[in-house]
Amino acid sequence: MNSAFPSVEPVVKERAPLLFLILFFLVQATVLTVFTVPFSWTLVLVAVGSYFLRMFGITAAYHRYFSHASFKTSRVFQFVLAWIGSMAMQKGVLWWAAHHRNHHKYSDTEKDIHSPSRKGFWYSHMFWFLRDDYNDYEAKLIPDFYKYPELRWLDRNHWIPPLTYAILLYAVGGWGWLVYGYAVSTFILGHATWTINSLSHVYGSVRFDSRDTSKNNVWLALLTMGEGWHNNHHYYCSSANQGFYWYEIDMSYYILKILSLFGIVWDLKKPPQKVLTEGLSRDLAKKQERNEVRKNRYEVKTKKKVEVLSAS
Ligand SMILES: [Zn+2]
Ligand SMILES: [Zn+2]
Repeated sequence: MNSAFPSVEPVVKERAPLLFLILFFLVQATVLTVFTVPFSWTLVLVAVGSYFLRMFGITAAYHRYFSHASFKTSRVFQFVLAWIGSMAMQKGVLWWAAHHRNHHKYSDTEKDIHSPSRKGFWYSHMFWFLRDDYNDYEAKLIPDFYKYPELRWLDRNHWIPPLTYAILLYAVGGWGWLVYGYAVSTFILGHATWTINSLSHVYGSVRFDSRDTSKNNVWLALLTMGEGWHNNHHYYCSSANQGFYWYEIDMSYYILKILSLFGIVWDLKKPPQKVLTEGLSRDLAKKQERNEVRKNRYEVKTKKKVEVLSAS
């Protein structure tokens, strides 16, 4: 794991989060409005489009850009990225990135804010941010972006992008677009994003010795536009691509690559050749180990068959 960021311990406070809890579950419950709208494939497309637009905002913007500075862009597009990420309704950009930097710093230790091995599945999935403990963040953790007043404003007013997005959806397509494009899409988007804190530290394969429980999981990578290559990411987190090889699908990276062709983003960081070679040799060693186990199993089976036949 590499990190160029300062070490600051997570802010911990004990306060009753009742109001936020009520608000959170009320917003989650809006998914039930789906029963008020007749099903249509057009509306499903609206939900899917809205999902992937904002998943890109979380993966490419909140995560790869603001948390890990894995590529560069202009000040204007930086704000656009922060705005799209904020539309996912997962709190402010500086809050998100600062806490994520701590997750890498303390992965799977007592100080990890969402470790499933330490605190259980549901806590790591969503209960951690429902507590008041993590309402604040240390500006020291994110000096590279905290210095921009427009980002500090957006972070404080992170409710503005989702609200204007919801109003826009309603203005364009009425109640049906609001329900599918916002309520349904936001519900699925939230849980899909949080699987990276919960499931991708539990299910999948381990390629690199990242000294934590992070896993690579192709299904989560498809669902989250590349974030499921979480073991790769924990091992070399400053890379813009999390799928390290051509066969590891990473939709967010493909879009960043296209944006780089137009000069909208640049200096996309890649893992060094040493890391890539290490990954391939570890895959090869695993494959050989699997083949060896299979061969041994076959030999034991055949031996047993021969013994049965010669006894009869
Ligand atoms: Zn992680
Ligand atoms: Zn990360």
